[in-house]
Amino acid sequence: MAGKKLNGTVIVTYRCNARCTMCNRYKAPSKPEEEISVETIRKLPQMYFTNITGGEPFIRTDLKEIVRELYKKSDRIVISTNGFFTDRIIDLCKEFPNIGIRISIEGLEATNNEIRGLSDGYNRGYTTLKKLREMGMKDVGFGMTVQDKNAPDLVPLYQISNEMGMEFATASLHNSFYFVEAKNIIHDRPMVAGHFEDLINELLRSNSPKKWMRAYFNHGLINYIYGQKRLLKCDMSFDTFFIDPYGDVMPCNGTKDKEVMGNLNRQTWDELWSSKEAEQVRAKVRCCDRDCWMIGSVSPAMHKYIWKPGFWVVWHKFKALFTKKPYSMYENKIVRDYRDGKVTKEDLDKCSTCDLRATINDGLSDDSRAQLKDRSGEEIVDADIAAQMK
Ligand code: SF4
Repeated sequence: MAGKKLNGTVIVTYRCNARCTMCNRYKAPSKPEEEISVETIRKLPQMYFTNITGGEPFIRTDLKEIVRELYKKSDRIVISTNGFFTDRIIDLCKEFPNIGIRISIEGLEATNNEIRGLSDGYNRGYTTLKKLREMGMKDVGFGMTVQDKNAPDLVPLYQISNEMGMEFATASLHNSFYFVEAKNIIHDRPMVAGHFEDLINELLRSNSPKKWMRAYFNHGLINYIYGQKRLLKCDMSFDTFFIDPYGDVMPCNGTKDKEVMGNLNRQTWDELWSSKEAEQVRAKVRCCDRDCWMIGSVSPAMHKYIWKPGFWVVWHKFKALFTKKPYSMYENKIVRDYRDGKVTKEDLDKCSTCDLRATINDGLSDDSRAQLKDRSGEEIVDADIAAQMK
């Protein structure tokens, strides 16, 4: 293990104050007393990239201590947040101006507030981002999960982020234990792909190599929403890991049920990483057919197999010399086949991970689940936040 830096995602809590339509995690919160401790975080290996996420990570009042620990062992940290706890975010960024912040905004104001179910969510997120920019933070930006409802806002939101000099990260709907969801699906694929196509052309027209790579990632999202094989091999659990609020180390957050390689509360990192259980999970990853396309699993693959996105970018930049629209979604055979009636919507739906009859495993511990006997997840988290704010 020594010397090899990994890519890690630390899910510090399953508590969340948002009510997103595509994620039911807010209904299944972790119990604060059980959430990953600074002692356990100290046992993590060196990482070249660390994503801190939730739930909503800023619900944890000790997040600063966690970041202090992770800062010692990570070359780069990015925190994914809904941007609601502006003061906590600003306070943390004063101590760590070099970290990255991604605020999930699901479209322009009305669309965002409808999807995220956070009152005044858009303004709070936008204001937080603006304040961070004014403080001189460089690595800040939007994160948007594209679906039928918000696809028309994709390019306008990208343009806003551009004007503010910010990063713009995209995703699409996924189903997994992490999202406590199995019914997410894109209905109007050509419409959504059309908006991705516009974004890809905007990105390709820019002068930023980072944006050209993002263009490739969005091209992969079109491929994903049509239910096709991943453009790049998935190597999760080989040099990438997720750790959940209970200290369970997992390959990723895209599996239907929680897959556990070991537990860092009870084991050392080296024991866990070379355990029989970890090898069994790696064997499952090798034949995983979920074909997710989330930045957590795609970014390491894009670095590892750089020649593939690299060739794609060179080809499309070459085309950009002669045309304003170097990318067409019809470059994807499946998009042409659907347009030409060779495959039906039902065929494509079957290729997705949407399963209306699935029993959903939320990945909660018995103790966390027990608290849901008398109260809903929303009530528990609302009471929790009200107590913090006193
Ligand atoms: S494709 Fe990769 S990231 Fe997705 S569920 Fe399978 S192993 Fe996880």
